[in-house]
Amino acid sequence: MRTRFPATLIAGDGIGPEIMDATLAALDALQAPFDWDVQVAGLAGVHAAGDPLPPATLDSIRRTRLALKGPLETPSGGGYRSSNVRLREAFKLYANMRPTKTMVPGGRFDGIDLLVFRENVEGLYMGYEHYIPINDDPHAVAIATGVNTRQGALNILNYTFQTAIALGRKKVTVVHKANIMKALTGIFLETAYQLHGEKYAGQIDLDNVIVDACCMKLVINPWQFDTLVTTNLFGDILSDLAAGLVGGLGMAPGANIGHDAAIFEAVHGSAPDIAGKGLANPIALMLAAALMLDHVKLHDKAARLRQAIAATLNADNVRTGDLGGKANTKTFTAAIVSRIKSG
Ligand code: NAD
Repeated sequence: MRTRFPATLIAGDGIGPEIMDATLAALDALQAPFDWDVQVAGLAGVHAAGDPLPPATLDSIRRTRLALKGPLETPSGGGYRSSNVRLREAFKLYANMRPTKTMVPGGRFDGIDLLVFRENVEGLYMGYEHYIPINDDPHAVAIATGVNTRQGALNILNYTFQTAIALGRKKVTVVHKANIMKALTGIFLETAYQLHGEKYAGQIDLDNVIVDACCMKLVINPWQFDTLVTTNLFGDILSDLAAGLVGGLGMAPGANIGHDAAIFEAVHGSAPDIAGKGLANPIALMLAAALMLDHVKLHDKAARLRQAIAATLNADNVRTGDLGGKANTKTFTAAIVSRIKSG
């Protein structure tokens, strides 16, 4: 068994460097055996190397096949294409797993334990878009094309069934819109039932729900769900909704898994409204680091990190502002580090 793990580190934009410093402090306290190769992407990549995804960053991940990444800024409307989407394509990161678990009891929804799997490289996220000009309006018509393939559906669905079974989950729910987008999301639904019948029936249950009804049901009674799997855009939206059930984006980690690499990150973005103020909640990135520790089979360190976060929030009552507390990123991190060292 390997004892050290080379890994690429991208601090990211906005609050990225603040929450990455916090996460590295926690990983240091755990003596996590990662040998970091520090690289840049997003806006920081544009500033440092004139490229939102510099070749050196891609080369680094090609070598390490493992990365911890802060949020990367993407301009809305025009500007460069999302570096996150390009990373998922470059390393065929077809599965995005986003666990959503209550860590602070007593909120609006208690005892949430949901797993959301999002197809990560296909669908309406492929960015096949164009405008058709009419008369003097260059943007008179906008057209987007979504692409879902049988093989793409099989990749994410196999990963979902296998992971859910390994984690002892009981039911997978496919979320779709096959009543309207009969081909684009119908292929996903159809493949799920075929695959389940052939390989997984008897090991885990399967049902399905239309995406709009799913949103309503998640808000009224989220406990009826166990594991959700869906196409790219729906997964993006549903996982933010799920994060809202457990205290917001500051609590939601994500793992991007593919044949060629695995990249761990927070679900949230660069939070430009609070960047540089030292207010950001670093828990989502810390929980992403815990997923990364699990990925390299250091389950004991992953569990210690999660326990330290839970103890800091609940026993020490130290919380950042988004969770109703008074701590800033630095004081919260100091509390986590001291919990790890005393645990
Ligand atoms: P956002 O997730 O950055 O912020 C949404 C809201 O949540 C803001 O009010 C923000 O202050 C708050 N928030 C987010 N993370 C927080 C944290 N850790 N602690 C406390 N509060 C937090 O979404 P946005 O403002 O729509 O996007 C900003 C930028 O991030 C955009 O350029 C977008 O493209 C990018 N983005 C990147 C990723 C990624 O790298 N994976 C994901 C989503 C958005």
